[in-house]
Amino acid sequence: MSNTLGLKAKLGLDVFKPYVKPHITIKPGMEKDPRLKKAVLVCPAGLYTENIAGEVELSIDGCLECGTCRLACGTEVLDWQYPVGGSGVQFRFG
Ligand code: SF4
Repeated sequence: MSNTLGLKAKLGLDVFKPYVKPHITIKPGMEKDPRLKKAVLVCPAGLYTENIAGEVELSIDGCLECGTCRLACGTEVLDWQYPVGGSGVQFRFG
């Protein structure tokens, strides 16, 4: 029997301090842009989803601040900033 934690259990160890304003947003009108759909596939925390209307939605809680979505989709569709100091992710065990 393995004592290795799965991905969701590992992510559950981290602490996330929210801020009033999300540090990543989808630019208005870009919700159906094909470039944005890459984020659904590459976000390691699974924060992007595509709804039945074909629009990509982002739930920022749990963001690892890895920048993968910014690299995959580009700044024409995403407004990406690091969180304000004192907010955002605090990594545990790693
Ligand atoms: S920065 Fe990383 S964890 Fe945060 S939304 Fe983008 S891909 Fe997901």
